[in-house]
Amino acid sequence: MHEYAVAEELVRAVLERLDGRGPVDGSTAVRVKEVHLRKGELRLLADEALQQAYRLLTAGTALEGSRLLIEEVRSEVLCRSRSCGYRGPAGYHDEPGWHLTVPVLACPRCGSPVELLRGDELELVRLVIEVESGSGTE
Ligand SMILES: [Zn+2]
Repeated sequence: MHEYAVAEELVRAVLERLDGRGPVDGSTAVRVKEVHLRKGELRLLADEALQQAYRLLTAGTALEGSRLLIEEVRSEVLCRSRSCGYRGPAGYHDEPGWHLTVPVLACPRCGSPVELLRGDELELVRLVIEVESGSGTE
């Protein structure tokens, strides 16, 4: 399942960042509260499946119990044909027999090749981290 692989990579990336950041010894613990992900709509990743994989993969790590917040980025393309100049969302093509909509990277107005401006990103944009000191209560 594609979402699982993506979540796995995300969790690994977050854990790597924590390594450089931190006093993770006996006295302090770094705990991740929120992970913000920006996801282009052309990635065709199901949020539900991503969340599920995320929960599984973070169990037992510093990310356990954290929230995964997914922001979807709408696509935008620019038509390469000078006479057209379309700029806007990518076109979609409904595959009969498939239960999904496939993005077509061609101009929805004239069918020329387009340049993809945004919509295929997948990036970690923000981490909300809490550093717990072992000495106190809250
Ligand atoms: Zn066009």
